Amino acid sequence: MRVLVLGSGGREHAIVHSLAASPNVEAIYAAPGNGGTAGERVTNNVALDPDDAAAVVAFARDKAIDLAMIGPEGPLCNGLADALRSAGIPTVGPGKDGAALEGSKSFAKDLMRRANIPTAAAESFTDRQSALDYLATQTAPIVVKADGLAAGKGVTVATEMQQAIDAVEECFSGRFGSAGNVVVVEEFLDGPECSLLAFVDGTTVLPMSPAQDHKRVGDGDTGPNTGGMGVYSPVPGVDAKQYCRMLEILEVTARELHDAGIDFRGILYGGFILTPDGPKVLEYNARFGDPETQVLLPRLNTDLAEVLSAVANGKLEEFGPLSWTQHVAVSVVIASGGYPGEYTTGKPISGIADAQAIEGVTVYHAGTKLTLDGSLVTAGGRVLNVTAVAPDFETAIATAYQAVGRISFDGAFYRTDIAHRALASRQPGA
Ligand code: AMP
Repeated sequence: MRVLVLGSGGREHAIVHSLAASPNVEAIYAAPGNGGTAGERVTNNVALDPDDAAAVVAFARDKAIDLAMIGPEGPLCNGLADALRSAGIPTVGPGKDGAALEGSKSFAKDLMRRANIPTAAAESFTDRQSALDYLATQTAPIVVKADGLAAGKGVTVATEMQQAIDAVEECFSGRFGSAGNVVVVEEFLDGPECSLLAFVDGTTVLPMSPAQDHKRVGDGDTGPNTGGMGVYSPVPGVDAKQYCRMLEILEVTARELHDAGIDFRGILYGGFILTPDGPKVLEYNARFGDPETQVLLPRLNTDLAEVLSAVANGKLEEFGPLSWTQHVAVSVVIASGGYPGEYTTGKPISGIADAQAIEGVTVYHAGTKLTLDGSLVTAGGRVLNVTAVAPDFETAIATAYQAVGRISFDGAFYRTDIAHRALASRQPGA
């Protein structure tokens, strides 16, 4: 199989790493890839822009690609999957219509309303004054979201009303570009978060293992939201009833998309809050989560190339259940100083080989690149995902942080409490 992987983050490195382990894969093109994908078996980085659909299609034809895997949401919302499928290339990732589940919070809310899927009560606004008038009738805590894509940073969970007012002003000031033209004000949901992802081939839904991200930049879930600072899987706090309910919600979502005439072939990601009334949907994504992928794929025993091919070709029904290792995975993000605000790039990175020498550790590159002289430098806010797989969370956490301690670059920082809840939720009464 000849595979094209679009994107350049930690998620794409994890996808390439798993595909490279498949005996069925003879060539991988990472477009544009990063400093980590460049070093994987049978993989070449190619200077292709995933937002340039015509160039991607031409490349895929030229290289006789059997499977295209689209990582990030931007190209999906721009219709890259539609362009590839029109050219006859089996593709993992929904078309523009299905990607709206992620690209437009109001599209997602409408679908949930139609299908009776539990979610936070919300109102959408297209002008500043109506949003502010509505806020005046509400109490904090309350959540303000830019409607469109804002890389996980367009959400403000306001504990004080003034923060909500500031967030509305910020959205309408154009900070998030057109993503902020519509602002959603949402009820605050209290409870632990959990993500459940599933492979979907248009009709069949094949669930993965639950994972839990850490969105806030600082220890103890403080500071602004980020794209994600660390993650673990499975989630010991999730019981069988909650898991079955989340899966049922993903199945209802897939059916609703199908009934609306949308052929969703890709990854359906449900972001849930486990409230006392059961799981409620916070958001959907129309692709693999980043960083969730960096703990899910290392635990997946099933050949990733096989399952992705089944997704793209509508053959998931024939595919048995996925096989997972009983071991757990913990991944810690090392970020550039200043992230999620301004940060500098081009800082030399050292210690990755030493970190990977520790048993069970894989370092997925997120924002890295190789310079012309072959040295590895930082190239993004989230730089590395240091993942450890081990029989239990105590060991996985200790191993991940031991590996993190071996890596350095100027300005590096990370959260020191990733997966703490996995330990807490196993203690009596916690
Ligand atoms: P979203 O991009 O909608 O998932 O929001 C990003 C993060 O903001 C979520 O992972 C939550 O941590 C938080 N968040 C979003 N909506 C709510 C809500 N209604 N109640 C509580 N927290 C929320």
